[in-house]
Amino acid sequence: MDKDRLTMLAKNPNLIEGIHNYCDRWCERCAFTGKCLNYSSHQEEFPDEGSRDINNSAYWTRLAGFFHEMVQMVREDAAERGINVDDIDEEILAEDKEITARAENHPCCEDSREYARTVNAWFDSADDLFSDKKDELTSAALMDLPGGDPVAAAQELNDAVDVIRWYQYQIYIKLIRAVRGMIRDSADIEYMPDDSNGSAKVALIGMDRSIGAWGVLYDAFDEWRDEILDVLVSLERLRKKAERHFPEARSFVRAGLDETGRSGE
Ligand code: SF4
Repeated sequence: MDKDRLTMLAKNPNLIEGIHNYCDRWCERCAFTGKCLNYSSHQEEFPDEGSRDINNSAYWTRLAGFFHEMVQMVREDAAERGINVDDIDEEILAEDKEITARAENHPCCEDSREYARTVNAWFDSADDLFSDKKDELTSAALMDLPGGDPVAAAQELNDAVDVIRWYQYQIYIKLIRAVRGMIRDSADIEYMPDDSNGSAKVALIGMDRSIGAWGVLYDAFDEWRDEILDVLVSLERLRKKAERHFPEARSFVRAGLDETGRSGE
């Protein structure tokens, strides 16, 4: 996509500026697709299912081209403001690296990294559990017994798994960004104001939803309750820790997403 086309898309009066900065990037479930420049530019570049097929090399070629054009636009934009991005100081790069290293060792980031590993380990060990549950729900659906809704139960389980998987790594990624912002703020390094609270809020929302989803698994798998409870307890501890380190995150107002009177309609 060239700059003119992007500029044209950006002129859409329905857009909410910056809405994609603090969303969870789950566009398939987002009510604001018609108000998001990130979504419309992505749709423009990848208009149909086929063009979004990650198993197709054409997708990766196109994505690489898309990023290349974006980088060019950033370069041009910077040049118009008198900045040569190739002149960025080695010192700034070293400082940035050091901030990332410190962020990775922050207790919130360490725990969220561990949570992502725990999720993988749990799902690796739960393969049989899901196939047994599938058999159980299929039999119940075939018998059509009164008092149960196996189709709804299966959907609820699928949804819970999708939610856990969606946020599994995102919680860590958002917390890294939040901690990086906090370090910059405390060192008075110029950065996006309040970015750490916005990022921490997205991480907290991911934790809230994941805790709800683990609750669904807890109810569905009686014999695995102890293991699921362990995951729930560790996630709840992480949530409390994040709230302690980012006490203003919950009240951060995300453009469009948290503003009253706005909807995706
Ligand atoms: S705001 Fe919604 S549509 Fe835009 S990037 Fe985020 S999830 Fe996707």
